[in-house]
Amino acid sequence: MSATDKLLPCPFCGGAPRIQHLFMADEPTHSRVICTNCHVKTDYYVYEFGERNIIKVWNRRAED
Ligand SMILES: [Zn+2]
Repeated sequence: MSATDKLLPCPFCGGAPRIQHLFMADEPTHSRVICTNCHVKTDYYVYEFGERNIIKVWNRRAED
């Protein structure tokens, strides 16, 4: 597993982020990453965008 497959700590508070899914009729439709400490978050992306890509979006932000 490369470093890009893992969520980096929150760039604002250093807290642990997690992936959050939005469900409609028990099917995941959208996903985003949210910090469990300060609740900073990415936009919602369609579920098909994939966790790997959402992790990339978050990590790019963490490196800013
Ligand atoms: Zn945070």
